[in-house]
Amino acid sequence: MSEQQDDSMYQDNLPGTVPETVQPVPTPTPAVQNQDDVPPPPAYSVNGATQPGDDWRTLQSYTQAVPGTMANAKSGPWTPPGGEVDQASFNWADAPDTEVEDNENAEEPTYQMNQAFQPIPGYEFVTVKESKPIAIQMQSKNSLVETEPENFSSVTDISEEDAKDALMKHVSSHCCYGKKPVKEMTIESVTPSSAYHYSITTFGEQRTAQRLYEPFKGQNFQQAGSVPAPGLWEIEMPPPMMYEPSESTQEVENTSIIDVCHGCTGRGFVKCYRCKGKGKVRCKNCKGKGVKKNEPCKKCAGKGKRRCYRCNGHACITCSVCEGFKQLRFYIVVKNKFVIHNDDHIEGQTALPKKLVYGVAGETLYQSESPMVNPIRMFPVANVNENSMRLVEKHRTQWPTERIIMQKHDLRGVPVSEAGYKWKEKPGKFWVYGNEHKVYFPKYPHNCFCCCYCPCTII
Ligand SMILES: [Zn+2]
Ligand SMILES: [Zn+2]
Ligand SMILES: [Zn+2]
Repeated sequence: MSEQQDDSMYQDNLPGTVPETVQPVPTPTPAVQNQDDVPPPPAYSVNGATQPGDDWRTLQSYTQAVPGTMANAKSGPWTPPGGEVDQASFNWADAPDTEVEDNENAEEPTYQMNQAFQPIPGYEFVTVKESKPIAIQMQSKNSLVETEPENFSSVTDISEEDAKDALMKHVSSHCCYGKKPVKEMTIESVTPSSAYHYSITTFGEQRTAQRLYEPFKGQNFQQAGSVPAPGLWEIEMPPPMMYEPSESTQEVENTSIIDVCHGCTGRGFVKCYRCKGKGKVRCKNCKGKGVKKNEPCKKCAGKGKRRCYRCNGHACITCSVCEGFKQLRFYIVVKNKFVIHNDDHIEGQTALPKKLVYGVAGETLYQSESPMVNPIRMFPVANVNENSMRLVEKHRTQWPTERIIMQKHDLRGVPVSEAGYKWKEKPGKFWVYGNEHKVYFPKYPHNCFCCCYCPCTII
């Protein structure tokens, strides 16, 4: 292994297990040659001080990772030495001078990654953090959509008789509405009209990218650079169901890079986080004094310290990042998310509250579905056209990081009749709406004789 390679191997600053500055120094001649004939690990210096502490001879199967090769993967993972020992199996230069107090809740640190990878064309922005949604260029489908002929159905009007029947049913369904007014009132006029409910739905897709990694155990992989990686939006990821939100993740072909594990810098093991690399911890019972109540401490046999439960005294544990395999396979994934956007517009010509139109049946006057719909232009009510135009434009431009897969829009007509009545010489109005002939009568002239808890006094 050349010195240049060593440099690249130790260029990362890895807080946690390895202190700030790590520089290679000449490799000592190993006392025992590794069976796999893999080059022995170079010793290294930490903050200028040589680390003979890479006591690799004492640790079986410790082989230095060689980036991009299979040799290391074939040699298998580092496995923790068996049994309990009184002498640490690895001397950590940055271990504290004295044993630390045992903390059974101590947690393994996270190992920061600072690797510089060869850029992969089209994915230069990708890091180990998930990217923001990636913008897609304006879709060419836009100009391909031909304007369809717009044929509109018509809304069935409600007759004067329908209006009276509907009102009678409405009154009957309210326990405390007196029937007297409806029997006595005269319907002066029934003016039919329609409310229009325009709605548009866009089914779109978002994509993000992220670099992931897994222990490299010698599995097959598609090396980055051998064949160009496909573009982020070129990867086929069809939706399982149209107009159903869902998510999926897929590996991008030809983006694999094998590199040294950042958790253990290619050792396969890391410093035990519970004993901080000492192999022993301070006895809690005697607070490290070895004596309790003027007698030798029973818990530690008077030593003031005892073997670390996590590493059995070896001071090192298997690296959780590479599972001891020393190398990682880094690869890029594309994550997609299918999303739905809905928008509505209600166009009414009466005082009927617009929200009531949502919940009733009407006639479908127009509907269309395509990868990119065109706005309604020819409907006789100008406001409907204008709002269709506004919402179609919004759905084309509002989400620039989404690919539109399909759009649909429709226009419903809901019959609304405004009835003018007179009762006891007083005029008033009510409305009958929807195919169900629902009634909206906000000021029904009645006296409630029910108890004071009757809902009609509350509504
Ligand atoms: Zn330990
Ligand atoms: Zn003790
Ligand atoms: Zn590792």
